[in-house]
Amino acid sequence: MSCLFCKIIAGDIPASKVYEDDQMIAFNDITPQAPMHVLVVPKRHLATLNELSAAEDGLVGAMVRRAAAIAKERGVDGPGYRTVFNCNAQAGQSVFHIHLHVLGGRAMAWPPG
Ligand code: 5GP
Ligand code: ZN
Repeated sequence: MSCLFCKIIAGDIPASKVYEDDQMIAFNDITPQAPMHVLVVPKRHLATLNELSAAEDGLVGAMVRRAAAIAKERGVDGPGYRTVFNCNAQAGQSVFHIHLHVLGGRAMAWPPG
């Protein structure tokens, strides 16, 4: 298994876990870009958003709702937070196992770089 996030899910590489259930895991990003920077990651390996089908609608919905729950736990739901899926090279995807970035705790610019 060569996928970094599959290794984290398997427990072969440590991560600072903030949430886990049967279908997903959430952990702190190793290089945080904001005071809160959590990655919500499905346990099933899907390389990019381009692999999603209707079969994953429930999974992706649960991931987005988990991001909102984590933001609320951290108290950034009111001030605001950002959720991001990067897809492929031009968007800056570097780990090819889909993950939802959840960033908060500071003001953010738009458009993104
Ligand atoms: P991407 O660039 O693919 O959208 O996001 C990948 C994210 O994974 C980056 O924000 C990067 O900092 C994070 N990351 C890379 N390697 C590790 C690691 O070993 N542990 C954790 N917790 N995060 C990682
Ligand atoms: Zn994987």
